[in-house]
Amino acid sequence: MSNLDNLFNKFEQAASSPAGQLAAYKAQGKKAIGVLPYYAPEELVYAAGMVPFGMWGSNKKTISRAKEYCATFYCTIAQLAVEMLLDGTMDGLSGVITPTICDTLRPMSQNIRISMSDKMPVIFLAHPQNRFDENGLRFTVSQYTNIRKRLEEIAGHPITDDDIREAIKVYNACHVEQRRFVKLAGEHPEAVSAVKRSAVLKAGWFTLKDEYTKMLKELNDELEALPKVAWPGTKVVVSGIIFDNPVLLQIFDDYQIAIVADDVAHESRTFKTDIPDDADPMMALARQFANRDHDVLLYDPASAKNRRAEYVAQLVKDSGADGLVLFMQQFCDPEEMEYPYLKKELDAQNIPHIKLGIDQQMRDFGQARTALQAFADVLALS
Ligand code: SF4
Repeated sequence: MSNLDNLFNKFEQAASSPAGQLAAYKAQGKKAIGVLPYYAPEELVYAAGMVPFGMWGSNKKTISRAKEYCATFYCTIAQLAVEMLLDGTMDGLSGVITPTICDTLRPMSQNIRISMSDKMPVIFLAHPQNRFDENGLRFTVSQYTNIRKRLEEIAGHPITDDDIREAIKVYNACHVEQRRFVKLAGEHPEAVSAVKRSAVLKAGWFTLKDEYTKMLKELNDELEALPKVAWPGTKVVVSGIIFDNPVLLQIFDDYQIAIVADDVAHESRTFKTDIPDDADPMMALARQFANRDHDVLLYDPASAKNRRAEYVAQLVKDSGADGLVLFMQQFCDPEEMEYPYLKKELDAQNIPHIKLGIDQQMRDFGQARTALQAFADVLALS
C-alpha cells in the first residue's frame, strides 16, 4: 500500500468512527468536550489540555429519543446531536458547548441543558449579532471568559494565557494545512475522490489539532509531489451546511464531478479565517469571530449589497469550477432564506447551479443521483 493510501485510510478511520476516537482519547486519560456548531472557541478546550469533539449530527442514526425534547421542525443535525447525547453515544464526554447562532440552536441549547444537566456540564454560548465594534468584541470576550472558567472547572486546573496563545498557534497552523488540502484536492481529483476529500476534512473534528495537522501536512506534501493530470470530468464548488454522507459523495465520484472548492460550514467556512495577533489571546479569539464574513449564519450590516452571493460566485470563478452544487438542509431557515439572493447572483453571472435538499436521515439518494448526473451532463455540454 502506498503512503498516500495509508494516510487516506487513517483519515477515513477517524472520520467513520468518532466513537472509536473518543474511546482512544479516553484510554489515554484525556477528557473530551462536545462542540456543537457553530464557531465555538474550541481553542480554549485544546488550551485546557482536553479534546474538542465536533458534534454535527450523524448519518447513521435515526431520531427517536430526541423527539421527546425537540420540535419536529428542528433540522436533523440538531436533533441527531441531541439523540447522540441521549442514547449514550456521547457518554464519554466531560461536557458540551452549545452555541446558539440560529433559531434552532437557541431553543435546542435549552433542550440539551434540561436533558443532560444530570449527566455532564452544558456550557451555553451566545455570540453577539453585532460582532465588530468594541461592544460586540467585549461581549464575545465575556462569553468566551465564561467558557474558559467552566472548562477550567472540568479540567481541574487553570487555563493560562500562554496555554491559549499556544492553542492559537496550533489552530492557525492547522488552518494553513486545511486550506492547502482543499486546494490540492481540487488540483488532483484523480487522487482525492469526493469520498476521500470529505473523510480528510471530517477527521479534523475528532482528532487533536496538532496530531491532525501533522498527518494533513504529510498528506499535502504527497499530493503536491503528484504530476498534474488532465481531469476528464466536470468541476464544481459545493455550498451548504454539511455534506459528509459517503453514499451521496460516491455519486460525485461515479459521475466524475470533482469538488474544487467549497463554501460549506462543516468545511472551509470553519477554517478560512485565521485568529489574528493580539496581545490578549481572548481578544484575538473574539476578533477572529468578528472577522468571519460571507456567511449565511452571521449578521452582515451591508447585506443589501448581496456581498455573500458575490463572494460565492467569485469562488466558483476563481476555482475554475463549471458550476455550483448547493446542498440545502431540510428545515434550515438561514440557508433557505438566503437562497433567492444567491440564485439571483449566480443567474446574473451565468453560473450554472443545482439545489438539492438533504437531511441526515436520508438513506435513499436516487433523486440526488439523477439530478447530479443530469447536472454533470449539462456542465459537460456548456
Ligand atoms: S442546519 Fe440550519 S437550522 Fe440546523 S443548526 Fe445549522 S443553521 Fe441551524
